[in-house]
Amino acid sequence: MADQSVKVLVADKHTWASTSSATSGKRGVELLKAIESVTRSIVKDNISFESDRHLLGAAPEQQQRLLKAVLDQQWPGIEEYGEEFFKVYAAASRRQQFTRAYVRKALETLDHGFSTFDRNLIYYASLVNDAYDCWYKAWAKAVQGNATAKQLAQDDKEGKVPKELFNHYTIISTSPDGQYTQAPYAAAFPAEIGKIVSIFDEWIAEMSKVEAEDTAVKADYLDYLKQYRTCLAETDIDRLEDEWRILDEKWMRIRYWIQIVHDIEYGYGDPLRTKVSPEFSIRLQDQDYAAENATIAKIQDVMVEYFQKREGQLAKEGIGALKKSLAAIYYLPFQCGVNLYFRFSGQSIPNRSEVRQAEGVKIYFDPVSTAAREESARELAARVLADPARNSIDTVGTIVWHVAAHEIGHAIYGLDAVKDAIRVSTKTLLEEPRAELTALHTMRLLLPAGLLTEADVQGAVASFMLQDLRRFQMFDSSATRPYTVSAMACWKRAADLGYITLDTHNKVTIDDSKVLAFLDESSRVFETILDAEDRSDGPTIEKVLADMEAAETAPIVKFLIDELFTKERSKGA
Ligand SMILES: [Zn+2]
Repeated sequence: MADQSVKVLVADKHTWASTSSATSGKRGVELLKAIESVTRSIVKDNISFESDRHLLGAAPEQQQRLLKAVLDQQWPGIEEYGEEFFKVYAAASRRQQFTRAYVRKALETLDHGFSTFDRNLIYYASLVNDAYDCWYKAWAKAVQGNATAKQLAQDDKEGKVPKELFNHYTIISTSPDGQYTQAPYAAAFPAEIGKIVSIFDEWIAEMSKVEAEDTAVKADYLDYLKQYRTCLAETDIDRLEDEWRILDEKWMRIRYWIQIVHDIEYGYGDPLRTKVSPEFSIRLQDQDYAAENATIAKIQDVMVEYFQKREGQLAKEGIGALKKSLAAIYYLPFQCGVNLYFRFSGQSIPNRSEVRQAEGVKIYFDPVSTAAREESARELAARVLADPARNSIDTVGTIVWHVAAHEIGHAIYGLDAVKDAIRVSTKTLLEEPRAELTALHTMRLLLPAGLLTEADVQGAVASFMLQDLRRFQMFDSSATRPYTVSAMACWKRAADLGYITLDTHNKVTIDDSKVLAFLDESSRVFETILDAEDRSDGPTIEKVLADMEAAETAPIVKFLIDELFTKERSKGA
């Protein structure tokens, strides 16, 4: 399964030896960061990876595009789920396999600084990662770009898809007589999942043997891994939902500094926006960000205060989860599965409302992903802004002032709570715009709370708007469609209020005197959604989404799509 080029490099004593100065004296998370950085340089410059770098062509611009996807999980200009997509995915996977091979070598041969228990977690997580890439490829080909996917998209528009097909853990296909059938993941992908399950078996056996300083943590982890194995191997459709819910519950009990995250997000990859994407990761808490974590806790307090004052039923039901939520900045040493293509910047999980209400949520921030996204956002902003001095985006500021409130916002009033009153696709398409509105609404609250000055708010909101430019660049991406809907609605709202205008040279200008008006109007839309949720008023929620999607025809939105949408594609030629 491991790729040949990876094996060659790992076996190459010279390449491994050349990394020793970068890793020498480093232990723990610092060692993992050094390995990631040194393998990144090798992929970028070493002759062994040249054929991968030339995958899209040898021109500097084409190599740049390839490296962005492979090194930073940024994919603009690469058509989703086409032949090119899977070629680039394979290269991205090889880059990660390479890092993981070096991590394992470090854990086997260096004074790595991890406890036996922590070493077990990282070592086996790296093996599971390798196996997940194969599963993701098979999964993506099964849910996209085929006749069944096309038919499902059409039937969903007409509301003709039977409810049971919305199962999160099945693959739908069409039988010869044109009827839909579905099979659990384990039955649809016996080879890919069988491989993962066998690694889990070995992992569980090895973990049982290792000594752990905290025996309760070890017991919780074993309990979790055994349940995870059960979920992966489950072939009874009727058991899937329950087994995975139990997994979410067991996972919530793990509060250790090293976190494993299982397949948990749905809605980004398939036409019904309901299938859980293959995803697995290991995340280590990063102590370099202790001060930022303290500020995030204060923002959480401001949000608790706001929602405590709300009268509605969902406020009462959600306040416990909001208070119990844990938010911190993490380091991810390597990526796999859907995360090679879609790397989160902030995440609030699990998604099941019953688990969230009972157990709270875990919120993860990834500063590396945030920084990579900002690099793209800065380039796009430079292309459209009238005044280059307004191009000010900073990574930690984005996490603290924008992404934190967005993610904490998912913990309360999540649209899953009203899923019976709205379409499945509405739940997915509107939940991200709703979370973005939570962030804007919270910025407005941070002013009287004394956490931000008016000048800070001007900077933070401008930065928020400019980050959304990436959505217009990837305008036709179905994976990021919920965020695109949010971006279109925000830019239209900003233009309607005169907060954003186009000058006579067709450049974007920002009028700070209108920023509070923009926040007021954003709060109005936000509270329209919350009020409708409390009344279980589906039609109003559907209308808010329809208005947001209709922003596509607004002049400012059309302008941004024209300017930024990357269509350098080899369609049909
Ligand atoms: Zn979100």
